[in-house]
Amino acid sequence: MAIVGSGPAGFYTAYRVMSKVPSTKVDMFEALPVPYGLVRFGVAPDHPEVKKCQKKFEEVGMYLNFTFIGNVSIGNAGGHFGGCTIPLASMMNHYDAIVFAYGASEDKQLGIPGESELQGIYAAREFVGWYNGLPEYADLAPDLTQGEEAVIIGQGNVALDVARMLLEDVDVLRKTDITEAALETLLKSRIKRVHVVGRRGPMQVAFTIKEVRELMKLRGVAFHDVDMSLIPNQISKLPRAPKRLMEMMVKGSVTQLDEAAKSWSLDFCLSPTEFLGRPDGKIRSTVFERTSLASRYDPSSSVVGTGKKVTIPSSIAFRSIGYKSVALPGFDEAGISFDERKGVINNDGTGRVLGVRDNENTERLRRLPGLYCAGWVKRGPTGVIASTMEDAFSTANAIISDWYTGAPFLQGESSSGWEALRAGVEHGKCRVIQWDDWQKIDRAERERGLPLGKQREKFTSITEMIAAAEN
Ligand SMILES: Cc1cc2nc3c(=O)[nH]c(=O)nc-3n(C[C@H](O)[C@H](O)[C@H](O)COP(=O)(O)OP(=O)(O)OC[C@H]3O[C@@H](n4cnc5c(N)ncnc54)[C@H](O)[C@@H]3O)c2cc1C
Repeated sequence: MAIVGSGPAGFYTAYRVMSKVPSTKVDMFEALPVPYGLVRFGVAPDHPEVKKCQKKFEEVGMYLNFTFIGNVSIGNAGGHFGGCTIPLASMMNHYDAIVFAYGASEDKQLGIPGESELQGIYAAREFVGWYNGLPEYADLAPDLTQGEEAVIIGQGNVALDVARMLLEDVDVLRKTDITEAALETLLKSRIKRVHVVGRRGPMQVAFTIKEVRELMKLRGVAFHDVDMSLIPNQISKLPRAPKRLMEMMVKGSVTQLDEAAKSWSLDFCLSPTEFLGRPDGKIRSTVFERTSLASRYDPSSSVVGTGKKVTIPSSIAFRSIGYKSVALPGFDEAGISFDERKGVINNDGTGRVLGVRDNENTERLRRLPGLYCAGWVKRGPTGVIASTMEDAFSTANAIISDWYTGAPFLQGESSSGWEALRAGVEHGKCRVIQWDDWQKIDRAERERGLPLGKQREKFTSITEMIAAAEN
């Protein structure tokens, strides 16, 4: 079995299938030289407890029948990040099954004037990647010195991660695995006021209690009062989760505004319409249209624009409106159906990939034997690691059931996997990273972290990662 992607979805699928069908051989392909996907490059550095799942992944990495093939991208001509590439068609020729678990490698855009022209507007994905050492964004150098006000558009957990990184005491971050370059930039930051802005109201937010609580408890950081007209009158009658969330928003922060060095707010019912710039091409402010909720306290309420404009000064802005998965090159040829709107591989709900229609007269999509998907590329870019694990287990169960019931799998030339493919990949400049190489990179990063009092100091370039593997 081949698995494309080494995030939680890939590892949990491998773990389950290998536990239940012990003879399974798994080759896991990863575009980057290092494993773990968003556990390494998404989860905030001050959430080390979330990264504990890596222990389980390390165990899987050591299984005898498991091969990690890092720095190898599937389907992307020229390699995703300058690594090696294998076309999907070649893979399909040498495996019984392929699991797509390649996550969401793009982000959604707002599509409003100023977004792509002005400097100082970042995707949360870039900013998060940058402070976590993702090679693609190592040189992002976000400018936090242009003024004191930051605007974050979106009200999910990623938006709150970005807010926390902007507001948190740098000395707290210093002990985490945040990159030294990010620490230096944050030290120079002038940001004092963070607006986390959403189109809808408090009852419709996507973030969860734990993340809000953390912000409410930050030392020296105050929360501005919420608009009480949007909070239900009888909070106590709400179901448990929204009840706690409303209580927390009403209660506010531990630090009061008059004693705070920095502050933040949740700005509701504002839909961005335009970014305005200064003569030097840098962002100056964000313009919003005030919205009105169709049904204030209904979690799925829609909004309509009111025509009223609100302008928030912005020395920097982040859009945090979601990640997005894209189809891999080669999907069309393989007949794999990708839902561009939802950004997911069409599947039967348990991870069996669906392909082109049976015939012109039917809407029904045909099952493609031997092809599966898991994680964010299967169900869309939402959910925590625990839900990704559940999702990966359901895909694994489908594979196991198909195997034991004798369902058809891929019918390629051979089932010899990486052994058949490696000669075509390892050539010239292409350096494949295997599990023992990753272990060397891991050790080197931990050693670099020691004198800094950090768990690790990540390498932020592929060249450095490969050099550490060769050392
Ligand atoms: C900013 C952020 C913070 C988060 N914080 C938390 C948190 O605190 N707690 C929590 O529980 N969850 C958190 N999550 C959610 C969690 O990270 C996801 O649920 C989970 O990582 C999704 O797993 P996945 O395997 O589907 O995708 P990913 O983790 O994205 O893994 C996909 C992997 O596939 C690789 N890949 C992509 N294209 C190719 C290709 N063509 N060939 C080979 N490999 C490829 C990628 O490099 C990546 O390593 C956070 C998410 C984000 C974005």
